[in-house]
Amino acid sequence: MVPLLPFIGPIILRSMVFQCQRDSYQKKYETTVTSCKPSKQEFVLEGKKKKVDCYEVIFADTILFPEGGGQPDDRGTVEDIPVLRIIRQGGEAVHDLESPLEVGIKVIQKVDWKRRHDHMQQHSAQHLISGDSFFHQYCFGILAFTNTVSYIEFNTPTFTSEEVLTLEDSINMKLRNAVPVTVMEYDASDPKLKESHTRGLPEDLVGPVRVVTIDGIDSNMCCGTHVHNLADIQAIKLLYTEKGKSNKILLYFVAGNRVLRYLGECVSRERALNVVLHTCPSDHGNKIEKLQKDLKSSLKSLKDAFKDLAVFEGQKFLSQNPRPKVYFHHRRDGDMDYLSGIINEINDESVLKILTAGEDKGPGTLVVHGPQDLVSQVGPKLCEILEGRGGGKTRFTGKVNRLGKRKDAEEYVLKVLDCEVEN
Ligand SMILES: [Zn+2]
Repeated sequence: MVPLLPFIGPIILRSMVFQCQRDSYQKKYETTVTSCKPSKQEFVLEGKKKKVDCYEVIFADTILFPEGGGQPDDRGTVEDIPVLRIIRQGGEAVHDLESPLEVGIKVIQKVDWKRRHDHMQQHSAQHLISGDSFFHQYCFGILAFTNTVSYIEFNTPTFTSEEVLTLEDSINMKLRNAVPVTVMEYDASDPKLKESHTRGLPEDLVGPVRVVTIDGIDSNMCCGTHVHNLADIQAIKLLYTEKGKSNKILLYFVAGNRVLRYLGECVSRERALNVVLHTCPSDHGNKIEKLQKDLKSSLKSLKDAFKDLAVFEGQKFLSQNPRPKVYFHHRRDGDMDYLSGIINEINDESVLKILTAGEDKGPGTLVVHGPQDLVSQVGPKLCEILEGRGGGKTRFTGKVNRLGKRKDAEEYVLKVLDCEVEN
């Protein structure tokens, strides 16, 4: 275990406990810049990874929470400069800022309260759910935050839906009872620490240990930010369970303002479906099931009709007298099965057939079938004209991009056949 740092001075000494942990409700804070150095870091900006020139800034203390204990880091500003990321390095919180700050100056930090409060609500909810007397025996305590729902991992293969409902009732009652949440700091060697549920102290621990206690329910070592009273979580909805790795179960939940946001999003989706499906929410499932059945049967009928159509097209060609030297055919809504059906019906390898299916002027499929020497001569060239790729000897198939150039392709094939006759 890392020993406590000796007292060096108010700026250099940093405990693992930051101002954001001492007062998680503080939204604005004055502190001093103790170090600032240029850096290049990778961030996900607008969904894409990007290397960004930035500055690693350390302050005497901070109200901006550095990522840790499963809780994501804060966002906010320092002197109106956006904070891109905050990470923990030993006992320090390193802030990545877009612009530099002069060492020694006093600055104002502001936290993105909406994001922080949301994280506090999810995190305290996790302590409450996993601290519940029934679930505690299984809790693995791993919390994963996502933008929409969070989950806790439990060391059990199943929970019944009754168990989940009972837990939901029990935890929401504790919110209504406005149970206080307190944070105490202990020296790492303090025997009182044994009374809380710790899974061993982290190796890089610097400074005092924080124990977060939900009165009479749970006492846990934690570096995260928490609500001061369960009433501030407002509501917790346990959503569903999912099988996790190695016989574990993941319990998904939303807490606090996310319950309202999630409900709002569900209602919007529900109303959009009402319009599309012409029915009320309780009938959505049945209606979709019926539509899927209808679609399946329609697709089967369509497939049968295309099979018949391919036979008809083949016979139409065979009935011509005299038969043309080459058979051209295109169908916008055809597919490879349809084209193969025509080839099978004609059933004559001495006839050159150029078949295409797909958007009249866009991408699609090309099949060239017939005498091997002709197919290997015109196949690649047709692919070139129609701007695609393909291969094959007596049956050349390709994916092409410009079916609008079919006329050029036909002219080319006729020219090749004319030359053959002359020769
Ligand atoms: Zn925690």
